[in-house]
Amino acid sequence: MIEFLPLGKVTGKYSDEIHEAVLRVVDSGRYLGGGEVSAFETAYAEYIGVHNCVTCANGLDALWLILRAYIEMGVMSPGDEILVPANTFIASILAITGNGLKPVLVEPRWDTLEIDESLIETHITSRTKALMTVHLYGRLSWSGEMAGICRRHGLKLIEDNAQAQGCMTLNGRRTGSLGDAAGHSFYPGKNLGSLGDAGAVTTNDGILAETVRTLANYGSPRKYIFDYQGRNSRMDEIQAAVLRVKLRHLDEDNDARRHVAALYTEGICNPLVSMPVMLPAQSNVWHIFPVFTERRDELQEYLWKRGVRTVIHYPVPPHRQRCYSGWNGLSLPVTERIHDRELSLPMSPVITDEEVLEVIDAVNTFR
Ligand SMILES: *Cc1c(COP(=O)(O)O)cnc(C)c1O
Repeated sequence: MIEFLPLGKVTGKYSDEIHEAVLRVVDSGRYLGGGEVSAFETAYAEYIGVHNCVTCANGLDALWLILRAYIEMGVMSPGDEILVPANTFIASILAITGNGLKPVLVEPRWDTLEIDESLIETHITSRTKALMTVHLYGRLSWSGEMAGICRRHGLKLIEDNAQAQGCMTLNGRRTGSLGDAAGHSFYPGKNLGSLGDAGAVTTNDGILAETVRTLANYGSPRKYIFDYQGRNSRMDEIQAAVLRVKLRHLDEDNDARRHVAALYTEGICNPLVSMPVMLPAQSNVWHIFPVFTERRDELQEYLWKRGVRTVIHYPVPPHRQRCYSGWNGLSLPVTERIHDRELSLPMSPVITDEEVLEVIDAVNTFR
């Protein structure tokens, strides 16, 4: 059987170093707010190429904290509009509505799955304050043109970098450093995964970073002084110690994913199955390898019978969810087509060439 993402094996690749890191924390007696977290923040800020990294409890909190900080700083107020791709994972949108802000869903392009840049300006109103771009599936979703639109209209550019740690532009700038602020997730299944929940905000804006740090600490800039109605959102020392190990191997793991993606791209040949437009190698870290077919559920069942485990990212788009029932009547045909046809093939730094070839054979024999 070929698993979709065998997390035990992903961790096992570096098990000696990870065991050492975890035991070091266990024996230290310091479990929160210690040296592992600050060392990870320094290393991650340097890796991404920004001045500030503030860790927090998870990726949703990271995005929520950025928006709340902008509200506390007077940059945004409840009711303001944030542009976001309609085909994103729900957490991008939850961070917006969770702050009383209004998500404006923008259709993606079918061939790239990225927000359709030609539609961005048509959605801008006097209340638009930011564009949240999402590097979905590990693909770079940024361009000089996108940054230019934000500059011209005075919008903050926020990156949801939950799925794309290590991804780069053509001239080597990392995702997470391309806008005003970025939210990162270290959920175990992400490219840089911890052994539980963890997240971070990266930014070059020192005031934003300090506001996020205060908000994540009950709104407290100093002990027992509270400036905001904040929350408790911390990364713990064990996760930070694990992430320090895994960060050292992230580029290697992403290269392993690129190798798998190259085999799939070369090998998959079936008129019923299509793939999105390819990007330059450094601009895709292949969090997910998506294929598309009108007979998605049949393909998934066929692969299951051949021993290949797949996942759908995602079966129901945000605007068709009960939690956003006000949007249920919206028609977003490109988003709906993506959600109807997407199927994610096994992808990880530990899948073997032999297994990949088996998956390719199974996909190619689907009729
Ligand atoms: C995983 C994910 C998040 C949320 O991260 P968590 O750590 O699970 O809270 C946000 N946005 C996207 C695109 C994601 O894939």
